[in-house]
Amino acid sequence: MKAMVLNNFNEKLRLEDIKEKEVKPGYVKLKVKACGVCHTDLKIAGGILPVCKEIQFPHILGHEVSGRVVETAADVTDFKVSDRVVAMFYAGCGDCPACERGEYSLCDNLEYWAGFREWGGYAEKLVLPARALVKLPNTVSYEEGAIVPDAVATAYKAIKRKAMVDKGDSVLIVGAGGVGLHGLQIAKFLGAKVIIVDKDQGHLDKALELGADYALQPDADEIKAAVKEMSPAGKLDSVIDIVGLQESFDYAIDNLKKGGKYIIVGYKPGSRVTFEPLNILLEEISILGSRNCSKQDVEDCLHLMAIAHIHPVIEDVVPLEKVNDVHEDMEKGKIMGRVVLKIPEKT
Ligand SMILES: [Zn+2]
Ligand SMILES: [Zn+2]
Repeated sequence: MKAMVLNNFNEKLRLEDIKEKEVKPGYVKLKVKACGVCHTDLKIAGGILPVCKEIQFPHILGHEVSGRVVETAADVTDFKVSDRVVAMFYAGCGDCPACERGEYSLCDNLEYWAGFREWGGYAEKLVLPARALVKLPNTVSYEEGAIVPDAVATAYKAIKRKAMVDKGDSVLIVGAGGVGLHGLQIAKFLGAKVIIVDKDQGHLDKALELGADYALQPDADEIKAAVKEMSPAGKLDSVIDIVGLQESFDYAIDNLKKGGKYIIVGYKPGSRVTFEPLNILLEEISILGSRNCSKQDVEDCLHLMAIAHIHPVIEDVVPLEKVNDVHEDMEKGKIMGRVVLKIPEKT
């Protein structure tokens, strides 16, 4: 099969012919139809994530995959050839309490980790455990479906299940990239008032188009003023932080109500945040991490997309061979939503 192959960290990907993996028990083979390109791909290609120690070259990136089933192992009964599917990039052991809840991202014994530890979707084919798959509704395209298990469902879990955002809540989303712009739509769908913060004016304009009540530069005074205007108590119910820096932590905590929730969804590798425990305890602030999503979250988001409550923010669809250019644009911060690689049936 053709694939854009990573042969070493910090090298450009190369278009190569590479031998497909065999389908083993419990596994299926997909014809990859679309694969989202994510900032995390840059971190993996740069060798800076802990998982990079486990990568064996040649490696294939790409963890936002949709495709059509072309082969199944004899013991796979949930999926058949020609099914349209999206793949979760974490496939757990299938045998622990987290896996029983479909929370594969919390499994300690991952069987497959597409595009991170094992091969991903920058390729014509992908072989992975059937339990990682979710059926794609007919009204959602492969390109739209591909971005759900990461850019959409990650935001959904953080907002719906961690922050428990409800009608009338005041919510601050820090970061208006792929996750933030989908999170904004989810928070609005749940009936919240939303301030979204980003350094890039283009991202902020897009956020206003998608229904943000306030779209602001990361300026502590402006944020405080907006919070005061937006909520009767002058405080936020929750903050979804997709940036994870000291600056965002500080204005988040400063504006949260008593009992408010601060949800960490994004990070910068190696960054640290300090705080005064007294403030957290006096205000009974909850600080919660939220990692990726469950299988049910993916199904819920696909449903919301199918009935047009979430509009996928896809900036461009480009051929697989162009992925190096996409990575470059991403590094320069030129990309707003997701760029999706389209992998034609015959290349
Ligand atoms: Zn990602
Ligand atoms: Zn498990």
